[in-house]
Amino acid sequence: MLSNLKQQPADKILALMAMYRDDPRPTKIDLGVGVYKNAEGVTPVMRAVKAAERRLVETQTSKSYVGLAGDPAYGDAMIGLILADAVARDRIAAAATPGGTGAVRQAFELIRNTSPEATVWVSNPTWPNHVSILNYLGMNHTAYRYFDSETRGVDFDGMIEDLAAAKAGDVVLLHGCCHNPTGANLNLTQWQAVVDLLNEKGLIPMIDIAYQGFGDGLEQDGAATRLVTSSVPETLIAASCSKNFGVYRERTGLLMAVSQEAGNTAVTQGNLNHLNRQNFSFPPDHGARVVSTILTDDALRADWMAELEDTRLGMLALREQLAGELQRLSGSDRFGFLAQHRGMFSQLGTTPEMVERLRAEHGIYMVSDSRLNIAGLNAHTVPVLAKAIVDVGI
Ligand code: PLP
Repeated sequence: MLSNLKQQPADKILALMAMYRDDPRPTKIDLGVGVYKNAEGVTPVMRAVKAAERRLVETQTSKSYVGLAGDPAYGDAMIGLILADAVARDRIAAAATPGGTGAVRQAFELIRNTSPEATVWVSNPTWPNHVSILNYLGMNHTAYRYFDSETRGVDFDGMIEDLAAAKAGDVVLLHGCCHNPTGANLNLTQWQAVVDLLNEKGLIPMIDIAYQGFGDGLEQDGAATRLVTSSVPETLIAASCSKNFGVYRERTGLLMAVSQEAGNTAVTQGNLNHLNRQNFSFPPDHGARVVSTILTDDALRADWMAELEDTRLGMLALREQLAGELQRLSGSDRFGFLAQHRGMFSQLGTTPEMVERLRAEHGIYMVSDSRLNIAGLNAHTVPVLAKAIVDVGI
């Protein structure tokens, strides 16, 4: 049996990480892997997370199973964080999942179970895992235009034109904020136009929100998700705490399914529980409990928000420094988009050949689609990157 297995394609980012590790150049810079790093290159445990963990160690009396949807306090706290009071609580079913990836996977399976004929529309480009999971599940999917490689902003007309071809019941996958990989985002007027289209055509939004607090602020980053959810009959939301709580390895995610009628919520909840049961039974608890401990304690929540805001402002400062440095070196404004983008990533919009030259000639590592992780930089490496970008002629 096992001898019949075929080699799986190598994960591009993991392959890049290995190359970076083996590169002896002391000046090498890793802009590939998608984790936040501070100026010292460390992915820190956030202060509030440490405090919540200490509290859990002291007070937790059992590690017994919780429930198929996870700890209800976690679901409630996350619903509050993401949706605030955008929709009545009794319309929302929610289940904890192993990370945001787990939520995405469960959402796709829910769609496949309930409307196997639906097509899932994903942005071009999108987080590669969206497409690979859809392929793995054998689901219909197609891409809508999203990134304009000239302006490095959103090709909004193209997006709307493509989505106008979707059929009623199709699902439109949207990034709630901080689009990965491009960094280019819709403004609220554009989000409203998307909402109008969803309603006009009977399309169902699925929102992936993995970077709340990394863009324009915790509240601002939730605004689009709240607008959509409060304006359409049904919404699926896949949320991740990996980045904004820095609990990557704890696998802390949540799938929310918002029904049109509160009367449908119990059956929807039952389906989320059932999906968890089939795939992994009980979801991980530790990260979820850390998150709910933080969100329900005024002091911990305030400290978490302060650290998250520092993180966000640090990335914004790097963006501005990089855009400014590139303007100085290139004598043009063509890199101004780097300061407009939001979140951890920006897509430079250059060719794989140029990306390879940055690696070979300058020891700068980024994914071949030219996505760079802003958090992989610091005030000292920004000028090095800017010079390399101009040197290779991007
Ligand atoms: N969705 C997007 C767009 C992401 O970028 C990520 C992480 O990179 C995730 C979801 C899920 O992350 P995790 O499964 O680590 O919580």
